[in-house]
Amino acid sequence: MDDCIFCQIVAGDIPSRTVYEDEHAFAFLDVNPLAPGHTLVIPKAHHETLGDLPADEGAAVFSALHELVPVVEDAVDADGSTVAFNNGEAAGQEVPHVHAHIVPRFDDDGHGPIHALFDGPGELSDDELDDIEEKIGAAME
Ligand code: AMP
Ligand code: ZN
Repeated sequence: MDDCIFCQIVAGDIPSRTVYEDEHAFAFLDVNPLAPGHTLVIPKAHHETLGDLPADEGAAVFSALHELVPVVEDAVDADGSTVAFNNGEAAGQEVPHVHAHIVPRFDDDGHGPIHALFDGPGELSDDELDDIEEKIGAAME
């Protein structure tokens, strides 16, 4: 994708602070870090969301995450990390090339869990939960 900023980073047309690269995955420091060590992990090929990502490329991204998360945490002496995808525009995804954020976290950084994004648990009845369970389960068979 010529006009995709992350494809241009993979191609070397836009500079990045690259921290990892293999056949299918690529990782670099976020240019506007939410915390020291904020790292993005992407598939090299252009896919917009997780649902678009072929399984082997998804596995490569997860494998890179698995290796990178503890290394990134150590590099900035973090106590943990929030690892997340903004998956789709509705979830706040701004760059339409699937990417995982590794955001190092520190004791008492005060930012809370991803649950802090929401006001509280949604009010769902047992029937509604049963329907959702059945729908997802059936589609996964
Ligand atoms: P999202 O809102 O999940 O799409 O996140 C996109 C992320 O990409 C943001 O955290 C940006 O700071 C980051 N970003 C955008 N352009 C660049 C760039 N050229 N190099 C590194 N990170 C970038
Ligand atoms: Zn792209």
